[in-house]
Amino acid sequence: MAKKTLDKLDMAGKRVLIRVDFNVPLDEDLNVTDDRRIRMALPTIKCARNAGARVILMSHLGRPKGEVKPELSLKPAALRLGGLLGIDVTMAPDCIGEEVETIIGRMADADVTVLENLRFHAEEEANDEAFAASLAGLADLYVNDAFGTAHRKHASTYGVPAGMPAGTRAIGFLIQKELKFLGEALQSPARPFVAVLGGAKVSDKIGVIENLLGKVDRLLIGGAMAYVFMVARGQGVGNSKVEREVKKKGKTIDVIAVAKDLLDKIQVADAEVLFPEDHLVAREPTADAETDVQGPEIDDGWMGLDIGPETTAAYREKLADAKTVVWNGPMGMFEVTPFAGGSRAVCDALAQVDEVGTAIVGGGDTAAAVEKFGLAEQMTHISTGGGASLEFLEGKPFETIEIIDDA
Ligand code: AMP
Repeated sequence: MAKKTLDKLDMAGKRVLIRVDFNVPLDEDLNVTDDRRIRMALPTIKCARNAGARVILMSHLGRPKGEVKPELSLKPAALRLGGLLGIDVTMAPDCIGEEVETIIGRMADADVTVLENLRFHAEEEANDEAFAASLAGLADLYVNDAFGTAHRKHASTYGVPAGMPAGTRAIGFLIQKELKFLGEALQSPARPFVAVLGGAKVSDKIGVIENLLGKVDRLLIGGAMAYVFMVARGQGVGNSKVEREVKKKGKTIDVIAVAKDLLDKIQVADAEVLFPEDHLVAREPTADAETDVQGPEIDDGWMGLDIGPETTAAYREKLADAKTVVWNGPMGMFEVTPFAGGSRAVCDALAQVDEVGTAIVGGGDTAAAVEKFGLAEQMTHISTGGGASLEFLEGKPFETIEIIDDA
C-alpha cells in the first residue's frame, strides 16, 4: 500500500516534526565535511516551508549512547542548513523539555528549528514511550524522511508516529524515492533482473541472498565475500580475508556453515548464480605490491583482492542486457587503486543499464565506490541507507513505514 506523502498534509500554520538524517561527518573543528545528507533533505524541508509549516527537524548524529557529547551536537548541521536555505535556522539546546517548547511556541510560519541530537537521550534508541510522547507533543504533524534509520524502531522513527492520531503522519520525498526504486525492483522488476553482491561480510547479506534468490534472474558474487564460499567448498584461499565467525546479539555464528547452507539453496534456486573463476591477487594489499592472476583457487602466501579479468568479462556480459540491477558491495578492495578494476567494470555496466532500465546502488561502501569513479550521476538511484537498504532487500517490512498513514 502506498504511503501518504507530506505534500498531502495540510501544513499551513502547523508545527511539522520531520525526522531527517543529518548524521553528517564533522572534522576536528566541527565543520561539516560532506553535506550530502542535508542537501538531500532539502526538497522535503522546502515543501513544508512553502506550505507555511513551522518546521521542526530532529536527527541523531554519531553514537553518543545516551550522553550529552558537545562534539556530536547538531549545531554545525543546523548552520549548514541555514546557509543552504539562506535563512536563520534556530538551534534548540535539547530535543525535549520546557526550553524547547518555548522556542517552538515562538516560531512563525516557514521558520525552521533543529532539535539537538536525539541520541543524547538513551530513551531514543530504547523507543521509550514517555520520551516519544514528549517529542510528539511538540508537533501537530509528523514526517519521516530518514531512510538510513527506517530499519530501526526508535522513538523518533516509531514511538512518535505511533502516538500521533491517524491522518497526521506522512513520509518525505527521500523515503518515497527509496520505496519507489527498491520496492519496484523487488515487486515488479523489468527483466533480466541481476543482483551484484560483494563486500567483505557474508553475515549481513545472508537474508539478502536468500530473498534475492527467489527474485532475480542472475546473481553475481564478488569481493572477499566470495572467499567464504570458496572455503565452504574446500577451495584454497591463501591469505585472503575471510569472515569465518561473527558475533551477533551475544551469539557466535559460524559463517562457513552458513555459506554451506546457502550453497545448498543456490543449487536448487531458479536464479543463475556466478562466483569468481579467477582472482587478482597480491602478497599484501598495497598499491605497489606485485600482482598475479590466480584461479579458481588462490595459492598459499597470496591474497585475493579483486575479481580477475575473466570473471570481470563474464560479469560484464551478464550485465549487458540487464533491465534492472541492484548492486551492493564492492568486487574488491576498491580503495586501493590496483584492486578497483572489478568494481569499476561493474559500475560502468550499471551506467549502461541506466540508459535502458534501472540501476540501483546500495548505500555505504558501494556508494563511496561509485562516487570515487565519478559515475554517481549515471546511476538511476543510489540508496541513502546502507544497513536500511540491505534490510529492505531482505524483504523485511519496516514497521516505521507501516505506521505511517496510507495514501
Ligand atoms: P562490506 O562492509 O561487507 O560491504 O565490505 C566492504 C569492504 O570490503 C570494502 O571496504 C572493501 O575494501 C572490502 N573488500 C572487498 N573485497 C575485498 C577483498 N578481496 N579483500 C579485502 N577486502 C575487500
